[in-house]
Amino acid sequence: MSTTEHPVAASPPPSGGVVSRRPEPVLEIRDLSVDYGFGDQAVHAVVGCDLVLRRGQVLGLAGESGSGKSTLAMAALRLLRSPGVITSGEVIFHSRPRGEEGPATPVDLMRVGPDELRRLRWSGISVVLQSALNALNPVISVGAQFDDMLRAHRPELSEQGRYERSAELMEMVGMSPDRLRSHAHELSGGMRQRAMIALALALEPQVMVLDEPTTALDVVTQREILEELMGLRDRLDFAALFITHDLSLLVELADEIAVMYAGRLMERAGANSLFRAPRLPYTYGLLHCFPPMHGERVTMEGIPGSPPDLRALPSGCAFHPRCPWAMDRCRRETPRLTPLDGWGREVACWLHSDGATVPEELRQPDPAEPRGPMRVVSRPAPSRGGTR
Ligand code: SF4
Repeated sequence: MSTTEHPVAASPPPSGGVVSRRPEPVLEIRDLSVDYGFGDQAVHAVVGCDLVLRRGQVLGLAGESGSGKSTLAMAALRLLRSPGVITSGEVIFHSRPRGEEGPATPVDLMRVGPDELRRLRWSGISVVLQSALNALNPVISVGAQFDDMLRAHRPELSEQGRYERSAELMEMVGMSPDRLRSHAHELSGGMRQRAMIALALALEPQVMVLDEPTTALDVVTQREILEELMGLRDRLDFAALFITHDLSLLVELADEIAVMYAGRLMERAGANSLFRAPRLPYTYGLLHCFPPMHGERVTMEGIPGSPPDLRALPSGCAFHPRCPWAMDRCRRETPRLTPLDGWGREVACWLHSDGATVPEELRQPDPAEPRGPMRVVSRPAPSRGGTR
């Protein structure tokens, strides 16, 4: 978790517990909905999603491919491409430039003009996508891309100043400044991803959106980059929205996790609570799709079936054809995200409604410290030249 103190806001305690104080929000997504296409043909890719990212924290957004995670993030940043259409919602960025005191200025990203949006991108919120090969310009060197961006956003820097800042950023992500002369195709996958992270950090954003940033990499490089990212997060103190289909990655990274299925948020909880005591059958299934890094060995089970076709969603709870605990009500009525406890956990599942019997698997006691990652990843080693 972040080592920096942030302004905090009181949140409701669990019954009989102490008042929990949490960092203030930096990005609030409210009732965001996205369709692909129009009218009767519209596919509802994101439906009424609410998320809060707090200063200095990592919010994990998890779910299988096609669950709407990336669509939600791209829509929130106004980066959605046609035929994607935002049909409702607001996205409030609480902007407070570095070093400034006092209350943050709320800006609705859905309503700002193109100039303001351009200014906020990179300096307020930056993005790292899965495929750095597509994100980096193939016909100019990495250094030229740093230079272009710094020239546009930091006009006070001289050419030498821009080079020095670029070199500093490369070293920050464990790469030699000599690599500024390289083109994207001359770098390995890990180095390209590091270069993208350095570029995204150039203007010291308050928020980074990381969309499957290490999915295309081998596990060793993935591990190194994640550790570097979290070390950078501690040092530079940005908040991160980390999107992944692999819940296991979030064990050590995230403070809070939201789980999406078929375009809807289905469970939201502190990371520790969600890992140790999931309340949603889908989350339980996702957690049993990979071997645990902590505790006893368990049998991996996986989730039967496939994610639904958004053009023909099942009635009621969209997960019911795959859910081992589905009831009649699940086939008829769509559950809404509902608070389960005073710690802010919310679940959309009829098993937790009055009169239902919660299975043993979904009744594990909440951990004593329900928020935060299970353990903090180690700090990165000093710059090694980034050979992977
Ligand atoms: Fe399973 Fe029903 Fe809960 Fe959906 S609402 S996750 S089908 S038990």
